Amino acid sequence: MRQVYLDYSATTPTKEEVVREMIPYYTQLYGNPSSLYSPGLEAKQGLDNARQQVADLIGADPKEIIFTSCGTEADNWVLEGIADQLKDKGNHIITTKIEHHAIIHTCMYLQKYHGMEVTFLDVDEEGFVSPEDLEAAITDKTILISIMMVNNEIGTVEPIKELAAVAKKHGILFHTDAVQGLGNVPIDVKDLGVDLLSMSAHKIYGPKGIGALYKRKGVNMPSFVHGGAQENRRRAGTENTAGIVGFGKAAEMARVNLDEHIAHSRELRQYMWDQICEKIDHVRLNGPADFSKRHPANLNVSFSYIEGESILLLLDAAGVSVSTGSACSSGSLDISHVLASIRVPMEVINGTVRFTVGDFTTKEDIDYAVDALAKVVNTLRQVSPVTGKEGW
Ligand code: PLP
Repeated sequence: MRQVYLDYSATTPTKEEVVREMIPYYTQLYGNPSSLYSPGLEAKQGLDNARQQVADLIGADPKEIIFTSCGTEADNWVLEGIADQLKDKGNHIITTKIEHHAIIHTCMYLQKYHGMEVTFLDVDEEGFVSPEDLEAAITDKTILISIMMVNNEIGTVEPIKELAAVAKKHGILFHTDAVQGLGNVPIDVKDLGVDLLSMSAHKIYGPKGIGALYKRKGVNMPSFVHGGAQENRRRAGTENTAGIVGFGKAAEMARVNLDEHIAHSRELRQYMWDQICEKIDHVRLNGPADFSKRHPANLNVSFSYIEGESILLLLDAAGVSVSTGSACSSGSLDISHVLASIRVPMEVINGTVRFTVGDFTTKEDIDYAVDALAKVVNTLRQVSPVTGKEGW
């Protein structure tokens, strides 16, 4: 049976070129990068090279890149680190209602255990955060603003430059979770004016279990993982050398192929949306209607009268992999906080599926997937107790 993977926002396959770069760091260049003899220095060279490659993808200085175990760690570190570093200045953080749980749950932890106050900004019906709302939420206790670059469920690309300018005007640090933006939208940290930015390798055809934080020179915060002097004393723990080298290679490929990757994703996403509209009734697109303002590969679609989980399972039986919400919340039946925040009507919110195409997706894959989808939707609607009622 044909297998069609349409969940590139959950994770991407590790590209062969990336794996090829990584293998020697397991088999030959396995020295500890902190060791002073040659095998250690060779491993250290791999880290330095990767740091440059990641820095180049976002227009940073390599000294501003610190490797972490994942995007989640980078997000946790920023929120907890800045809360500690600036506790004498204030106890207020501003974020949004549509962040990834790596941000939302850390904010809730800080509220519960560290006396922090957190404002979760509303978004409009396409998921955009307004710079005016942000400015209105700032108080003299605000120490950090954290707003994601690209939403993982509905693909909204936030106006980060405008939002960061508001933070700068008030002398407040600005962090962006760029896990979904990296390799999918052009990023130049200096042009955007951000102070801190989280990244993850497995969303850009790199390995899992490796991420990074961009920390602008001059921004201070305590270490999050305590121990040895790795990462210039900023993040302890023996480095995941092969993972870091893989991240570097994936970042280099993402930079070189950025335009081509975006064009390919956009073309297939448009093709898929056209096919869905042609073959299936009662569908609703969630997130920005203007495709130039959403993640180039993302479609988030509600199918009236039926449930996303059932669609997912029947599609899986046909060899097609999709997601009902963000990767991390699938498996739970909670209503997506993102879809609730953009006010997707309750009657259709449960019938929502996220499709994300990628570099290995072909038109034939889309034809196969949409045919399977049309059959699945039809089958489910035939047995749905609410079919025939107006969904919205
Ligand atoms: N932030 C966003 C927006 C994400 O989409 C994800 C993963 O889905 C993360 C953070 C977490 O990244 P990681 O899987 O590297 O921990």
